[in-house]
Amino acid sequence: RFVSLEGGEGAGKTTVLNALREALREGGDEIVATREPGGTPLAEKIRGLLLDPAHVAPSAEAELLLMFAARAQHVRETIAPALARGAWVLCDRFTDSSYAYQGGGRGLDADWIAELERRVVGLQPGLTLLLDVDVARGRERTRGRDLVPDRIESERDEFFERVRATYRARAAAEPGRFRVVDASQGVGEVAVEAVRHLREWRKR
Ligand code: C5P
Ligand code: MG
Repeated sequence: RFVSLEGGEGAGKTTVLNALREALREGGDEIVATREPGGTPLAEKIRGLLLDPAHVAPSAEAELLLMFAARAQHVRETIAPALARGAWVLCDRFTDSSYAYQGGGRGLDADWIAELERRVVGLQPGLTLLLDVDVARGRERTRGRDLVPDRIESERDEFFERVRATYRARAAAEPGRFRVVDASQGVGEVAVEAVRHLREWRKR
């Protein structure tokens, strides 16, 4: 009952999350919608540090560890308790984002991320919807949003190409968990396709 949404900037994750929530509401079960980095008061503060344009951009290593500090708290305080009481958990980003951004994007070793995942997180979504959109189109949709500051002008497209490639490779390597949605469609169509994947996955 743990579903995560992944994708680059401007893929439509927030819209899709709302659509999934509406679709699950029919069942009458509790639904916890949450996000990363964030999802608890402490983790939201870490998000604020990471996204604050007034701060000096963290080193890649500091960014990774802050992401996992936030995630450690998020799992223990929000996700695991919700799953234990039988709720659905819909999470806007989870550990796959660290492989994509801190691993693929910033070049940190995937083995190190896997070790943190094993020790600090210890659980995975049953279903991960990857909203896949090409970098140029995603960029058009995100003007003025809460991007990590140092990426606004520099890095940009090459960085996001690596993020996208990492996501796609992970989806190809774990077809049981991932469903890839073509997010270059309008957000309405993306949401409909995502809901269809969720329904099919529940019936499996
Ligand atoms: O999900 P959302 O687009 O709101 O993410 C906020 C920012 O945090 C984005 O710029 C995203 O690229 C960044 N991020 C990151 N590494 C993660 C998760 C998010 O750089 N592991
Ligand atoms: Mg969003």
